[in-house]
Amino acid sequence: MEIFIADHAGFCFGVERAVSLVEETSHKYSGVFTLGPIIHNPQIVSRFAESGVGVCNDPEDVNDENTVVVRSHGITKATYDKLSERKVNVVDATCPFVKKAQNRAKELGDKGATVVVFGEKDHPEVKSIVSFIDSEFLIVSDITEAENLPYTENYALVAQTTQNSESFDKIAEILKNKCDNLTINNTICNATSLRQASAIDLAKKVDIMIVIGGKNSGNTTRLYEICKEICSDAYHIETKDELKKEIFDSSRKVGITAGASTPGYLVEEVIEFLKEVSK
Ligand code: SF4
Repeated sequence: MEIFIADHAGFCFGVERAVSLVEETSHKYSGVFTLGPIIHNPQIVSRFAESGVGVCNDPEDVNDENTVVVRSHGITKATYDKLSERKVNVVDATCPFVKKAQNRAKELGDKGATVVVFGEKDHPEVKSIVSFIDSEFLIVSDITEAENLPYTENYALVAQTTQNSESFDKIAEILKNKCDNLTINNTICNATSLRQASAIDLAKKVDIMIVIGGKNSGNTTRLYEICKEICSDAYHIETKDELKKEIFDSSRKVGITAGASTPGYLVEEVIEFLKEVSK
């Protein structure tokens, strides 16, 4: 059996930073909570729980002496305000790329534009971006919604960091014909597209694709769907324990990829499992 790993797989910069910040904070303080699960990976969340890091869903749920770590995809301005009212110690693990999207959206709104945010309306990151806009804003989740926007004087376009760049460019083209002045600020981070492109490359040359990551992780599920379209023998697993030896034929080529919220040790465990199977 030959084992191949996608060129870009596993933790992205923002997730790695958030996980390291939780680790550092839990060594420094007691009573540490993350505001929501720190990442969409049950194994990492369980590991933190075992080391005493709790999960709270609202600043109201913690005591003044607790420390709260903010997740990589950010929180709303109202939640920051609540945290500062509570006077709890806050460690902000919001990814710098998400901060940039929040800041750009606010600045463009302050300059008088109607801010159009390309993203998923119910996603916490989009909720956080729009919460910093003090003027008018609109959220569009796809090209059709952009086509239905009314004509106005000034539009400014930003995006949720994990959106697709091609769709962003198409939406920008549509908006050019819907206003007198359009400011385009592409706030998409390339971690998602790099993982998808290298998963596609790999899926084309292997017989089996294994996609590792939380079943609750949107970016991992999307990676699995993309791989499955190219390589029908694809599996979305969280850990090596879900793999059955029988599915591997010793002569087969096996490809591995992992979502942006999947830690390296889970990938290593799968590689070790496959090496054992192929002996
Ligand atoms: S996908 Fe990009 S924006 Fe999101 S946490 Fe990772 S590096 Fe940051």
